[in-house]
Amino acid sequence: MNLQENKDAVFAAVEQAKEAAQGSQDVVNVIAVTKYVDSSITKDLVKTGIQHIGENRVDQFLEKYQALSNQPLTWHLIGSLQRRKVKDVINYVDYFHALDSVKLAQEIQKRATKSIKCFLQVNISKEDSKHGFSLEEIEIVLENLRPLDKIELVGIMTMAPFEASSAELMSIFSKAKDLQERLAARNLPHMPFTELSMGMSGDFVEAIACGASFIRIGTAFFK
Ligand SMILES: *Cc1c(COP(=O)(O)O)cnc(C)c1O
Repeated sequence: MNLQENKDAVFAAVEQAKEAAQGSQDVVNVIAVTKYVDSSITKDLVKTGIQHIGENRVDQFLEKYQALSNQPLTWHLIGSLQRRKVKDVINYVDYFHALDSVKLAQEIQKRATKSIKCFLQVNISKEDSKHGFSLEEIEIVLENLRPLDKIELVGIMTMAPFEASSAELMSIFSKAKDLQERLAARNLPHMPFTELSMGMSGDFVEAIACGASFIRIGTAFFK
């Protein structure tokens, strides 16, 4: 595993995908998903020039957050969060990508000592195994989140099925982009919806083509 080579290859592929998108997407933030490795390898990866770290489990998030606390990093919690764990982690999180229930949002509102940047996770592909709100629920969810002023809804997060074809990926990711733009245009209080979190090692090219502003990359860094 050569971390510098992998990092360079990922960032070169991101640049290429941005160029192919012809300037429709100027900022693509690359989140290194470090769930496959320990803190020591994470530190080595950061030295290659990584700014964003993502973890999908609370215990691993906290372990790495502590081990790398002296570094100027942005911290992303990308996986589903149990309500009882909110208090342990939420105030260390810069971006939470997996807001998938109103009850979870209420718990975050209760425990947060600052405004928390959250992505609404939307299950566009309607896969049973995926978390997230359905497109049909979005309006009622927004209504329920309206009083929760510590939840800053910065955008939409979605995941595509692992086995999806390129055409299916483009269809799913375009629907996420449409939703994000429609919600952004409404200028709702504490719901800017300017960002779009989608794309992993196997599908980030399609995600960038459809306007992703945050991609979440694990495997490609650690192969
Ligand atoms: C693991 C994970 C990723 C990264 O997936 P890779 O295919 O390893 O790049 C992205 N998002 C979430 C929510 C994850 O759990």
